[in-house]
Amino acid sequence: MSFHDLDIGFAGNPLDRLSQAREDSRLLAGLAAAPDARAVAFVQSMPVLRLAGETLSSLHPLAAARAFGAIREEVLLGRDGNGPAFALLLPDDAAQAEESTDAGAFVDQRRLILPAFPALQIRDLRPLANKAALPRAEIALLAQAKAILHFHAHHPFCPRCGAPTHSAQGGWRRDCPACGARHFPRADPVAIMNVVDGDFCLLGRQKIFPEGMYSCLAGFVEGGETFEEAVRREVMEEAGIRVGAVRYVASQPWPFPASIMVGCEAQALSREIAIDRAELEDCRWFGRAEVLAMFEGRHQQGFFTPNPIAIAHTLLQHWLDEGRR
Ligand SMILES: [Zn+2]
Repeated sequence: MSFHDLDIGFAGNPLDRLSQAREDSRLLAGLAAAPDARAVAFVQSMPVLRLAGETLSSLHPLAAARAFGAIREEVLLGRDGNGPAFALLLPDDAAQAEESTDAGAFVDQRRLILPAFPALQIRDLRPLANKAALPRAEIALLAQAKAILHFHAHHPFCPRCGAPTHSAQGGWRRDCPACGARHFPRADPVAIMNVVDGDFCLLGRQKIFPEGMYSCLAGFVEGGETFEEAVRREVMEEAGIRVGAVRYVASQPWPFPASIMVGCEAQALSREIAIDRAELEDCRWFGRAEVLAMFEGRHQQGFFTPNPIAIAHTLLQHWLDEGRR
């Protein structure tokens, strides 16, 4: 599966995460002082972008990024051949809504600016990834940064005793000086499954999906549950379909806000769908030819599947490829 890894959105981070530098404050300080040190900066969960020639870039010289505002947190992401890379968290009030209605190169839900830096743009990561507006490796690096900065933004106080916490270990832990608790960032596992029965697969749609889009069913893995059990439970809850064998296919970092998607293929043991209307607006079986038409944008009813940054696309592609063998 190693070649398939490259086809997955938000995968392929080029950084060596340098976990040894998290323990070694001198090494950490040396990396931050390196002349080629770079940083990505986030405000309100969105990366700050600059134009480098004709193209967008989210990487800034570290010293320049530190001047964007009163930095709340600075995290070592790692290093690649271009130098060390850090992630900076700006306070929410550093940014303002952009007034311009010019659609420009992007049409996003939200657009922000830093008032003192009018040349910089602030955009949601998801449309940036959807439109491949940044190099693939940079999208992956931003996924790492967004997830760890979400941890800092949401853990200013100790969940155990309520005292203020502070960053430690290069930004990969938060410590509570009052009770001694140490808090680590976590990735929330989500099982996502292509439920198949011969030449048919089960796809559903939530009300919030764009009109016509159908995707694989998915749900958070709960405590005391294996991935396989989570797959069977979710498919039964949402669609009333019994599932037998579950096979792992691939995984994907999904930084909205900090998930790891575990992509599986699941064998259906029953056919009759009973939709949980609280979760799904619709759910039905689709044949291979129909899924292919959805993939290729020529479905008669205009139905389509998620775009390639979503692992649902990878799971369906994998199933279609297998059907050709
Ligand atoms: Zn505490």
